[in-house]
Amino acid sequence: MRIAMISEHASPLAALGGEDAGGQNTHVAELAAALAADGHDVRVYTRRDAADVPEQVRLTNGVTVVHVSAGPAEPIPKDALLPYMRDFGLWLAGQWRRDDWVPAVAHAHFWMSGLAALVAARQTEVPVVLTYHALGTVKRRHQGTADTSPPRRIGYERALGRAVDRVVAQSQDEVRELIEMGVPRSRLVVVPSGVNDAAFTPEGPAAPREPDRPRILSVGRLVPRKGFQDVISALRLVPEAECVVVGGPPARRLADDPQARALQALAERCHVADRVRLVGAVPREEMPLWYRSADVLAAAPWYEPFGLTPLEAMACGVPVVATGVGGLNDTVIDGLTGDLVPPRDPRALGIALRRLLGDRVRRFAYGTAALDRARQCFTWQRAAAQLGGVYAAVSQVRHPTEVVA
Ligand code: UDP
Repeated sequence: MRIAMISEHASPLAALGGEDAGGQNTHVAELAAALAADGHDVRVYTRRDAADVPEQVRLTNGVTVVHVSAGPAEPIPKDALLPYMRDFGLWLAGQWRRDDWVPAVAHAHFWMSGLAALVAARQTEVPVVLTYHALGTVKRRHQGTADTSPPRRIGYERALGRAVDRVVAQSQDEVRELIEMGVPRSRLVVVPSGVNDAAFTPEGPAAPREPDRPRILSVGRLVPRKGFQDVISALRLVPEAECVVVGGPPARRLADDPQARALQALAERCHVADRVRLVGAVPREEMPLWYRSADVLAAAPWYEPFGLTPLEAMACGVPVVATGVGGLNDTVIDGLTGDLVPPRDPRALGIALRRLLGDRVRRFAYGTAALDRARQCFTWQRAAAQLGGVYAAVSQVRHPTEVVA
């Protein structure tokens, strides 16, 4: 099947860790690769953010990345991309009408890609599947006035849920939110994200560490909602351990980064600065080394649509202490593969971390169960197979002749 994946701001080719580059980039890259490995013909459409990139890049895994001209060919924060989505959609429609490559389905990632996909779909009849990745309602609830999303985001998201052919939710929590938003249940399917279980494994090299100092790892974009400040505060209750934070800008730019500076300042105030290390952005292929070096992953977001990093740790056999929010309630089984604690509660986090780091047997049991769970329930092959079924169903409805042919 010809599958168009639309990911307006999150390119599979981008470096990760920065403010707008994280889970969606990984998700799109891995899902596209898994679909291509299943024999599908996959193109990922992403916005051109530099003048000197070729229009098409063919990856070794068979996926083609297409750079779409919509807005200035320069980096633009994702929250400022809305004005260019109509052009993005018209560009797609133009290509699909001109080319001999017409997709059987367009899978849009993030609401803005959904808008572009609908513009294209109106002219080409290509069915649209949408994964929101994050919801404006949830963001507004947690971030209030700090939310920089376009003001009409929530309204657009609601309308999209009724206009597209299928909505893919990533967790049970998202299903609940979507139903509250008015998305018809009949249009919803749940397909969780996955983990690359060939790359994220317990076996293999690990990043260097001090042998006698327990290591708490925390990974993600350095944005307040990821809760790194709570992990650093919790460190006061875990006196022996060090905390390594991976993510944010590249190491050479950490000193100028306001979020990194705020975390360092907090570590000073908590008298734990000598045990906190900010590593900066790490290339995706080096991530397994960091997980393998850890005794536990601490994931303390205030909210989390899905949350890939706990799953990546689990696939490396590393137990997780996480806040019981969003998708983390589906991936981490409390008391079996890790511990769930309330969000924004450094004390509860610290107590859970101290207990786990002091109990080698429990860590081993959690790590073993976590590895099993990641491999059995959350692979990209599994997600690709499920989505293949969804794509076939929606393209049959719209394009009976094409499917028969
Ligand atoms: N990541 C990375 N390098 C970094 C920091 C993060 O490759 O320096 C990857 C991480 O391994 C994961 C993704 O970025 O695949 C973050 O996804 P998650 O769902 O945890 O968070 P999001 O960015 O979607 O909020």
